[in-house]
Amino acid sequence: MDRKTDVTIVGSGPAGITATIYLKRALIDVVLLDKYVPGGKVNFTAEIENYPGFNKISGPDLAGKFFEQIQNFGVEVTYGDVLDIEKKADQFKVITDDGTITSKFVIFATGTDERKMNIPGEDEFKGKGVSYCAVCDGSFYKGESVAVVGGGNSALQEALYLSGFVKKVFLVHRRQGFRADELLVKKVKSTSNIELVLDSVTLAVEGKELVSGLRVKNAITGEEKLLPVKAVFPYIGQIPATKGLSKLQVLDEHGYVIVDENMETKVDNLFGAGDVVKKNLRQIVTATNDGAIAAIEITHRSL
Ligand code: NAP
Repeated sequence: MDRKTDVTIVGSGPAGITATIYLKRALIDVVLLDKYVPGGKVNFTAEIENYPGFNKISGPDLAGKFFEQIQNFGVEVTYGDVLDIEKKADQFKVITDDGTITSKFVIFATGTDERKMNIPGEDEFKGKGVSYCAVCDGSFYKGESVAVVGGGNSALQEALYLSGFVKKVFLVHRRQGFRADELLVKKVKSTSNIELVLDSVTLAVEGKELVSGLRVKNAITGEEKLLPVKAVFPYIGQIPATKGLSKLQVLDEHGYVIVDENMETKVDNLFGAGDVVKKNLRQIVTATNDGAIAAIEITHRSL
């Protein structure tokens, strides 16, 4: 698949989708590229309560609505894994595992990948009890006990989701204080089948064929215990997904893409948008904001 277009949008999460909508309304041609499904991480989120227009909507339903909207503009997602991005003269070449896309502009909106616990058993039991997506795999554990690891919005939100149908959720966090919205903290603390396991670090996922426990250690007392769980859902943060950007030197020391107020990197006509960029607030609304700003700037330059 070798293609030429005006704008290559890498990533079809909320940032990439919004950029697509704005650019298509300006009659600018785009290739919207993704390696998984349209909607990005929204697909793996149980419930969203802070996106205007919906009191409450499931992540997969919102992702479906995003997809429907770009289909109305005749855009299909092109599937491919970006291996490299090169710039020659005023053209970018986005090299994927399925061919090259050439364009004057690139919007890089790949989001983030989940951080791993890096403990024994994590890789071994992936798909056999270790899952990074409660909304995809949670229902396998109806009536069972499970563990969620982490103390941010994702961990608390997914613990609440799981508590709706599992017997018990152990919420394992390495400190006492959470870094999640107060509303979520309050809900978690008042949910009878969520047990907080605080000041605790994870040591190992244990089991035979399938997970049967999560070994944790209290960081203050040193006491170890085995939580009797059939599944472990780590939600311990994200790392920026920047494969393909290494040659262009647009990343900060933590690997996030540095952009200016127009969402442009220091490389002319290379834009960043969404969770992959260096910023303070990573939300669906801030991702859509970034996509719109990048698209409007490109529109102005294309007139
Ligand atoms: P996050 O906010 O970075 O939280 C990660 C959590 O994992 C922290 O509590 C951290 O502990 C813990 N952690 C990090 N490394 C660890 C390790 N090696 N072992 C054990 N625990 C570890 O990540 P997130 O919850 O995935 O959220 C990512 C971004 O998306 C945030 O900006 C968040 O606000 C946003 N988000 C928003 C919503 C919403 O608005 N409803 C929902 C989901 C995500 P410490 O606290 O001790 O550092």
